[in-house]
Amino acid sequence: MIRPQQIAIDGPAASGKTSVGKLLAKKLDYLFFDTGVMYRLATYVALQKLGDVANEEDVTAITKEMEITLRVNTEKDETEVLLSGEPVNQAIRSPQVDKNVSIVASYPGVRKILTEKQRKIGLLGNVVMVGRDIGTVVMPDAPLKIYLLASPEKRAERRYQENIRKGMTADFHEILMDIMKRDEIDSTRVLAPLKAAEDAILIETDQINQEQVVQKILSLIKYQE
Ligand code: C5P
Repeated sequence: MIRPQQIAIDGPAASGKTSVGKLLAKKLDYLFFDTGVMYRLATYVALQKLGDVANEEDVTAITKEMEITLRVNTEKDETEVLLSGEPVNQAIRSPQVDKNVSIVASYPGVRKILTEKQRKIGLLGNVVMVGRDIGTVVMPDAPLKIYLLASPEKRAERRYQENIRKGMTADFHEILMDIMKRDEIDSTRVLAPLKAAEDAILIETDQINQEQVVQKILSLIKYQE
């Protein structure tokens, strides 16, 4: 069975990339890698060290110094991202990180450093990688590229329910505003903006659940065989 060595999944904030990517990777026995974690880490560390992310040069220097490694957790059946050898916790999903991450991700120096790390992971093969620029910049040669779409309201509703499930505080309006703001910054930045690759397959997920999205992707893989 010939399978695509790399599967790129891109899409706007809370479009279901992570849930779909994880499930797909599990079904194919591939490595799942969420590139958003790297941008969130850079933001989290910058906020800790600098208090804000306004100084591009300082944030870039911090990103360069970060020691990021990957570890496959066979018990949990997932890829963990380690910062200086320690697993990353929910702190990178805080509203403060949400508010600042797109600014950090718009800094060219930060993108250069993280894109290089992501490419190396892609080259390992048998990987499902999710983000904003995977099909366009990180792995433009990936044999299968997916772009997930959903309305801002649907995405905010999903993120709201997810936060409640995790026991986090959640305010639907705030989540919606944040998602729309991030989409705007992510899709209008000069370098590697959020957009579908020309050869990406678009999947609209407003009316279908994550299992159905995964089935659609699996049927594409079968079709490619
Ligand atoms: O996917 P997630 O919402 O966790 O990503 C957080 C932020 O990281 C995005 O809003 C975007 O600004 C940035 N990002 C990016 N390129 C990627 C992945 C994430 O710019 N490949």
